[in-house]
Amino acid sequence: MYRRVVDIFVKSRVGFLFVLFSGKMPTSWLISKEGVHKPLELPHLQTVVLGRGPETTIKDKKCSREQVELKADCNKGYVSVKQLGVNPSSVDSVVIGRGNQVKLKPGQQLHIVNQTYAYVVQFKEDPRTVLASKDSGGTKRPQEPSSEKGELHRDAPKCKVSRESEKKPCPNDDPVKMPPTKNAPHATEKVESSGHWSQGLKASMQDPTMQVYKDERIVVIKDKYPKARYHWLVLPWESIPNLKALNRDHCDLLKHMQKVADGIVGQCPDASLLRFRLGYHAIPSMSHVHLHVISQDFDSPSLKNKKHWNSFTTDYFIDSQEVIAMLEKAGKVTIKEGINDLLKLPIRCHVCQKELSTIPQLKEHLKSHLPK
Ligand SMILES: [Zn+2]
Ligand SMILES: [Zn+2]
Repeated sequence: MYRRVVDIFVKSRVGFLFVLFSGKMPTSWLISKEGVHKPLELPHLQTVVLGRGPETTIKDKKCSREQVELKADCNKGYVSVKQLGVNPSSVDSVVIGRGNQVKLKPGQQLHIVNQTYAYVVQFKEDPRTVLASKDSGGTKRPQEPSSEKGELHRDAPKCKVSRESEKKPCPNDDPVKMPPTKNAPHATEKVESSGHWSQGLKASMQDPTMQVYKDERIVVIKDKYPKARYHWLVLPWESIPNLKALNRDHCDLLKHMQKVADGIVGQCPDASLLRFRLGYHAIPSMSHVHLHVISQDFDSPSLKNKKHWNSFTTDYFIDSQEVIAMLEKAGKVTIKEGINDLLKLPIRCHVCQKELSTIPQLKEHLKSHLPK
């Protein structure tokens, strides 16, 4: 008996020392959530390319042979993931985007392609347990990642989310305080006219600090250049260039966007004081359909010119319900001829219709309509 105990002690000790002195670098493991294969080693600071192939057992043609490039930093405790393939790879349902790189941390979930083939990463804290799980072909899971459905972002400032509410797909039901966009850092926007804003938009969609809500279909972000105290953008993950590209099949998606937007407005601490409009710009130059959710105070330094003003207060701004109604009735959205001319109209107060000659005058006037 004694001998056996010593034997086991010696054996495990030898195994441990072997790991310690075999000159092995720190490493990490990529673990298939479905447990379809053994954990894949991601050695410290070494590039590993994965995709369709025997290593992952993925046979799906939608997955490139070189779909993602992974590089673990064991000291910092994350894996950099770069999407190489055409179809979307994602971390916690946020699409990475081809050529982009994001961090994958323990507890987060990587989907190799199209929200499928789920993986988690595990850093080797205790080499013996990991090696044991590798040897036995086990699928040791470090930690269940958070729900993928309808997650209000936990890191959003002042955003208090209960564990319960994270599981619900729609914030309508959530007792969640939404982060106000008021006092957000401002910069100048050129009425979304430049292509690179569209690039910035893509980055913002994937930036957890910008995300207010996300689920498998849409993401809500704070507008980088809010034109009012509260201004959010609701965007589908699916890339739809503009309103003209919409058809009847998009009705469900647009209704979902509107429902989530309504929920977010409902959570706004000033919801009872301010009026909100939900709508689309007739001709958005950002090539990605987005629903504006904007409070009607227009109390913001980012509102700088007539074009800004008219894009939200004339028929250039089409209510979400109207867009949905057009799709249901006609199967398409019709934009009136000469809609761009609306942007050149004189500045008129959206509450009392008074005409003002300059933006500073307008701003002074708008104060009279602010809630007391
Ligand atoms: Zn817009
Ligand atoms: Zn007025």
